[in-house]
Amino acid sequence: MATHASPSGTCRPNTCLVVDDSAVVRKVARRILERLGFSVREAADGQQALEACRAEMPRAVLLDRNMPVLDGIGFLKALRAEFGPDDPVVVMCTTEAAMDRILEGIEAGAQEYVMKPFDEGILQDKLAQVGLLPA
Ligand SMILES: [Mg+2]
Repeated sequence: MATHASPSGTCRPNTCLVVDDSAVVRKVARRILERLGFSVREAADGQQALEACRAEMPRAVLLDRNMPVLDGIGFLKALRAEFGPDDPVVVMCTTEAAMDRILEGIEAGAQEYVMKPFDEGILQDKLAQVGLLPA
C-alpha cells in the first residue's frame, strides 16, 4: 500500500477532517470516508478547521471552498503558513468548474481537488491519487 510519507510523523494515519458549512455534505462525506477506513472529524468553517488542526493534526483535509467566517482559500493559506506545505494533505471541493478557481486552490496549497457532488468512487480515486489509499 502506497502511503503519503509524513516527515514529522506527528499525525495519525487515516484521519480526515471534513470541512464544509453544509451539515448534509459533511454527513455524506463522513459516511464515505468511514467506509474507506478513515477516522473522521468535522468542522463547519475554516476557523473551526484551523483550531481542529492545532488540537490534533489530521492526515487529510477534505475542504469546501465557500464557507462563512473563513473560507477554504483563507484556511489553506493560514494552514500552510503555520504548518508548512506538505501536511496535512488537502483535497479541495468545489462546485465551480472554472480552471482559474481550481488553480487558486492549488496555488494556496491544496494537493488535489474534487468537484461536488462527489460519490464514493470519485473520492476513493482522489485519495488514491494523493497516496492516502491503495491505487
Ligand atoms: Mg460551502
